[in-house]
Amino acid sequence: MSGPQAEVAARIPGAATLGLVPPPGAVPVPVPQLADPRRLAELLAARAARQRAGDLRVHATVWWYSASAVLLAPLLAGLAVGHPLSARPADTTAYLGPGGLPVAAVSAVAGGDPAAGLRESLTTVVPALAAAARMRPRPLWGIATDSLANGLLAVGRAVGDVPAVTALAAPLAAAVGFPLPPPRYVDVAGARFAARVSCCLVDRLPHGPTCVSCPRRPAAERQVLLEDAASRLPR
Ligand code: SF4
Repeated sequence: MSGPQAEVAARIPGAATLGLVPPPGAVPVPVPQLADPRRLAELLAARAARQRAGDLRVHATVWWYSASAVLLAPLLAGLAVGHPLSARPADTTAYLGPGGLPVAAVSAVAGGDPAAGLRESLTTVVPALAAAARMRPRPLWGIATDSLANGLLAVGRAVGDVPAVTALAAPLAAAVGFPLPPPRYVDVAGARFAARVSCCLVDRLPHGPTCVSCPRRPAAERQVLLEDAASRLPR
């Protein structure tokens, strides 16, 4: 990989695991082409057929939970290391792995207005995905907020400055504006976690796990699970 994102990735330990480096064999698809309702409907139908379960809304939501994390990665990583990258769809290529899941995204352009680029990206992909799944778009905006929060948290952990990097989340989301909900964090046992605002519906799939940070868990139960997760984080 060359270009401005290579400079960003070089500053972040484990950049490949954050979706910043396309793995061999991944299929490049420009984001404007990915955000085609017919293409997305085919992708979701293929996922449903393969798993022989789940309606389109479930598959769209589960797919977007992973896909949005990857699509936002270049923007969030660039902001975190002080080398902003464009999030505009025209500047971004998604790399698809098995099941049509984005495994990396690359921005070819440095600079630009981060919030405007992110808004353009979300208003390109979210309505197309909602149309493909015949669902309301609002839950998908909530998923995007959690990807924003989790993405900055992951980069913050990678570069060793969680407070500074996660502090970028609220101003960025506010600048994107409605209908993107505000991202939230919670600190548990000395570790920071995203306080989820969305449900990813993953437990509606066969053998789907339940989410540690599920917003529908009783608060006390979630606290215990997060304390356990905090104890397993490297210090
Ligand atoms: S565990 Fe919670 S967040 Fe995860 S899919 Fe189930 S209800 Fe949604």
